[in-house]
Amino acid sequence: MGKEKVDMRGRKVCPKCNEVNGARSVVCKKCGEAFPVKPKADTKQKTVGIALDGQLDAIKSLGGLDALRQHIANLDAAQKALEPFGGPDRAYEVLRLVEKVAELTEVKRGKK
Ligand SMILES: [Zn+2]
Repeated sequence: MGKEKVDMRGRKVCPKCNEVNGARSVVCKKCGEAFPVKPKADTKQKTVGIALDGQLDAIKSLGGLDALRQHIANLDAAQKALEPFGGPDRAYEVLRLVEKVAELTEVKRGKK
């Protein structure tokens, strides 16, 4: 009695009951054993780790997580405040315009 030769490509064996399942099976079709999920996310995890390396330095130079949190909160507040003007760029144009008008008004009044 020779060993049964099974092409294992695209298959996996249940560690509990040795039933051969499809490679993408999540649970054993025979006993219902949950298969461990292959660490496919490993490369992704690595990318996040590498990306975080530089960003951790940035957080440090900001003064820590609380500082970063504060910046984000400030940005949120700033964006809300500048919304009526149509964003930061438009707000800057409005600022310059009003400054100019104020300047001209002061010139008219003889304050300059
Ligand atoms: Zn099984």
